[in-house]
Amino acid sequence: MEKEKFEFQAETKQLLNLMINSIYTNHEIFLRELISNASDAIDKLRFASLTHSDLLEGDSEFVIRLTPDEKAKTLTITDNGIGMTKEEVIKNIGTIAQSGTKEFLAKLEEANKIAKKAEEEAGKEAKTDATTKDLIGQFGVGFYSAFMVSDKVTLITRKAGEKEGWKWESAADGTYTIEPCEVEKHGTSITLQLGEAYAGEGAEQDMTSYWTLESLVKKYSDYIRYPIKMEETTEEPARNDKGDIDDKLPPVKKTEDKTLNSQTPLWKRNKSSIKAEEYNEFFKHQFHEWEDPMWYYHTRAEGTVEYTALLYIPGKAPANLYFQEYEPGLQLFSRSVFIMEKCKDLLPDYLRFVKGLVDSPDLSLNISRELLQQNHTIKVIGRNLEKNILKQLADMLAKEREKYEKFWNEYGRSLKAGVYNSVYDPDTKKDQLADLLLFMTSKEGKLCTLKEYTDRMPESQKAIYYATGKDKEAIEHLPQMEAVKDKGFEVMFLLDPVDEFCLEALQEYAGKKFQSLSRGDLDLGDVESETSKKETEDIAKDNETLLKDFKEVLGEKVNEVKLTNRLKDSAVCLVAGEYGPSFAMEQAFAMANA
Ligand code: ADP
Ligand code: MG
Repeated sequence: MEKEKFEFQAETKQLLNLMINSIYTNHEIFLRELISNASDAIDKLRFASLTHSDLLEGDSEFVIRLTPDEKAKTLTITDNGIGMTKEEVIKNIGTIAQSGTKEFLAKLEEANKIAKKAEEEAGKEAKTDATTKDLIGQFGVGFYSAFMVSDKVTLITRKAGEKEGWKWESAADGTYTIEPCEVEKHGTSITLQLGEAYAGEGAEQDMTSYWTLESLVKKYSDYIRYPIKMEETTEEPARNDKGDIDDKLPPVKKTEDKTLNSQTPLWKRNKSSIKAEEYNEFFKHQFHEWEDPMWYYHTRAEGTVEYTALLYIPGKAPANLYFQEYEPGLQLFSRSVFIMEKCKDLLPDYLRFVKGLVDSPDLSLNISRELLQQNHTIKVIGRNLEKNILKQLADMLAKEREKYEKFWNEYGRSLKAGVYNSVYDPDTKKDQLADLLLFMTSKEGKLCTLKEYTDRMPESQKAIYYATGKDKEAIEHLPQMEAVKDKGFEVMFLLDPVDEFCLEALQEYAGKKFQSLSRGDLDLGDVESETSKKETEDIAKDNETLLKDFKEVLGEKVNEVKLTNRLKDSAVCLVAGEYGPSFAMEQAFAMANA
């Protein structure tokens, strides 16, 4: 049979063009894509061989092999997987079947156009918008990514159980050729004719170097289930007859077959077989941390969406946790193949301190950051994980109080922000979060939960009292504390500017309203204060002109001058209006606007 020439489908051409001329930053992902295809092909053969063992042709040792050729400037990726027939080569390699890929294409082109336009407008020196680059660099595009690093790609394949082998070749010029060829072993090998920047000395990234390939495999494909092998050649100084090193003799070359990947990801192993130290070591290795985590959680879910998640809370909150530059998010894998470093669409922002990874076969490798937000699988997994985390934290609070308080001191602010966020997002798990809050109070000088507070409230107490201030002492000295303390009521100390926002969002707990000591009229809710309220009103009426005079003197500095029943020994106190912002909130606003 003759060599046949084919035109690429229009979309394929478009994708190829983007590959060659694109502004992709992450060229190295081509290896991940080709290795993942090889692994898929082996999966398929392994599965088929369960019922047709002859398909293995006596070779059941699955392997993916990298063969670089420094001189020829080529890199070959070989697998002994299922292989392809001629029709399959045309269908799978010549066309883009995935609707997802088509969508990416449209988005990509749009992004490219925007970037180009921006560059033109800003003059030659302008750099492409970083976010656009990010978008484009974040997803793989399968087989065609090979063209990001190569001028010509040759694919040789033979389907397991078939006699004919096929050679496919393209220089990405809009056409490809197919011809029959002898292929000894079933499976596929892909040879890349590497471009200038990717081979030889002085290359930007030498894809024929053992070191480069090893590190790329470790980075992207470490947990591929099949061994990824490569020969390593090392030189040792030659020795003479006596066994001493002799510089005059040519060095001795030694070639060893090495397996580059560790194959079993920790998270895929059985929970009961993993020790705490292993979890901790993995955390440090995987997320470049120095200290052990304070918490980890390993879960596997099967059902509508299948996934494994391994989550951690670092021992210390990063200093920039609440700054713009902090990038939250979990690592994303699909069948142990790395997709993305920081997927921030899984967990709500108030859990931004959680690190970890999610591995789901229901996720496609070809997923862009933009599309993630609408991705159903991501949504389902994210919701489940949020639920799990909240439940785990509640357990910690109930069973390991000391540990929880340590957690609270590092990350409590995030949970408070979560409660506050319920103002904007009704889906926020406000009630569960409320149970996780801790506050200092006037009793015992210990952190306490809202439940602990309300459980020990005397019958006569109708509201949950709180006061804001910069520290405990400042609050203790508030004139307003007197009357409340006198009644034996407990007061929550809100020392963090976000505390009050948090309670504002909650409004009440266990049917009890929150009431500030420094806002509006203090209703201590008993008969005594009802009568004194009446008395106060009468006195106010009698002294109307005096109060008016006060207001005139103070002018704009205050809204109103009132008589109050909330003081015991002090003569005056400043309070905020019932509905306006409180002092603490005003301060927080001032801080935010500074
Ligand atoms: P995807 O892997 O997402 O399907 P790719 O562009 O990576 O998309 O690959 C396209 C198709 O080509 C694959 O689905 C598969 O059918 C075929 N293919 C690619 N590489 C191999 C291989 N090494 N062995 C067998 N088939 C392959
Ligand atoms: Mg693929």
